[in-house]
Amino acid sequence: MPFRSRYTGLIDKYRDHLPVHDDTRIISLGEGNTPLIRLHNVSDSIGKDVDIYVKYEGLNPTGSFKDRGMTMAVTKAVEDGSKAIICASTGNTSAAAAAYAARAGITAYVLIPEGKIAMGKMAQAMMYGATILQIKGNFDLGMDLVKQVAKEAPVTIVNSINPFRIQGQKTAAFEILEELGFAPDFHCLPVGNAGNITAHWMGYSEYHKSGIVNARPKMIGYQASGAAPFMRGEMVDNPETVATAIRIGHPQSWDKAWALQKESHGWFDELADEDILAAQKLLALSEGVFCEPASAASLGGAIRDVKNGKIPEGSKIVCTLTGNGLKDPDTAIDQCANAKMTTIDATLDEVKRTILDSMAG
Ligand SMILES: *Cc1c(COP(=O)(O)O)cnc(C)c1O
Repeated sequence: MPFRSRYTGLIDKYRDHLPVHDDTRIISLGEGNTPLIRLHNVSDSIGKDVDIYVKYEGLNPTGSFKDRGMTMAVTKAVEDGSKAIICASTGNTSAAAAAYAARAGITAYVLIPEGKIAMGKMAQAMMYGATILQIKGNFDLGMDLVKQVAKEAPVTIVNSINPFRIQGQKTAAFEILEELGFAPDFHCLPVGNAGNITAHWMGYSEYHKSGIVNARPKMIGYQASGAAPFMRGEMVDNPETVATAIRIGHPQSWDKAWALQKESHGWFDELADEDILAAQKLLALSEGVFCEPASAASLGGAIRDVKNGKIPEGSKIVCTLTGNGLKDPDTAIDQCANAKMTTIDATLDEVKRTILDSMAG
């Protein structure tokens, strides 16, 4: 039997469902196909009969789900002859844009809020060679500027207002349906611009239309309390949260998100920063899965809604872990003031004594 040609990424896998042609040059880094991990310990600790799965999008090539959208957006930008892409970013979009631009041999301009992006994301944008414009303002202001400058300079916007981003990101829903063999009852996501929740709904809906019954879960979007326009019912001008990836007050997919919330019979809710961080730590400590703070909003919200009965027993729940924990080492280390770490002399006696003392409790 001949070996199968190497799987090269989600466009290759789902090309029949994506706007590409046979001769389109695909810009890929092998994104998608991320693990769907069933949580055993967390589910047990809640004391309710539910199945919780996490879709670990932090294992994409640049460490976040943004790669799913970026492979499509950059592929189409190159196909259309674009030589430069631009985005405003809370960090992960800039990392993905920079990487895919490098892969394609084009230029990436990224606008980031000065001092408000996690260290790993900054390192990525720098290494991949993006031109980094730190602005003295937040993401929402950066997004406004990007929209204006794209009218006056030959640059393609690769934020989630680019429809190809949503096309790429919808494939995460395909993967979940294929792996589970059914749709979850609830799908929980952290919400910033609401592009990803919109993309998942599109993916589920396309499967649904193709005749597979019940391919659509209730969609739940969780925001950080300091950056929760969907809870306030209006835009928020000075969003603040430790979860910098969702530090967004003017979501770009506002109308689409409200529409899918109604259509799916889901809801929006919010979490305090301390609850987001508690969920991040719980997941790492009890399951060995390290996500970035914003990602933990999905699991933290799901756990709360299982406990309070909004999500009934018997439910199958998928939580998207949007980004890798290594993106934001500072926030992780800050949380671990009580880490089991001691400095000792480099001798066998000291090492042995420390271990035996620790085992004795
Ligand atoms: C971009 C991002 C989000 C928010 O996604 P939206 O599509 O803007 O709602 C959440 N978590 C992480 C880690 C992200 O990078």
